[in-house]
Amino acid sequence: MLDRAADTGPVTAKSIREAVAEVVAPEPDNPVDALGNILTEASAIQAFEAASELKAIQAEIQKVRRRVKAVAETPLGNFMRPQGIDIDLKNAWRQLKHAAPYAECPYCRFKHTHGCDACRHSLWVNKMVYDTAPAEMRE
Ligand SMILES: [Zn+2]
Repeated sequence: MLDRAADTGPVTAKSIREAVAEVVAPEPDNPVDALGNILTEASAIQAFEAASELKAIQAEIQKVRRRVKAVAETPLGNFMRPQGIDIDLKNAWRQLKHAAPYAECPYCRFKHTHGCDACRHSLWVNKMVYDTAPAEMRE
């Protein structure tokens, strides 16, 4: 892979990223994004494969919300503010949802670049970034 990165000149972080990207072919058994498109970028595949961790953390938050509510109804909850705690936990849950991978970067795909500010050079984006991309980039 480093040989491939060196083919085009000095080995830089960018040339390594491009060489890594070339290694992953759009195989039909690659995972798909939220739109059903087959993922082709190694970094996107890694993110989508790890995304279940976000859902697991969200499930833990739901458990904590139930535990806080139960404790708040006991004498131990005398000085608790369960509504405030619940709001904070819901916000944490939403932040994790917001962070979830949604699709490969439409900006990079449209402009044939390999990393950009929109995807924070990860080659994938969340739903909000995807939805705010110009329509011609989302096709
Ligand atoms: Zn990008």
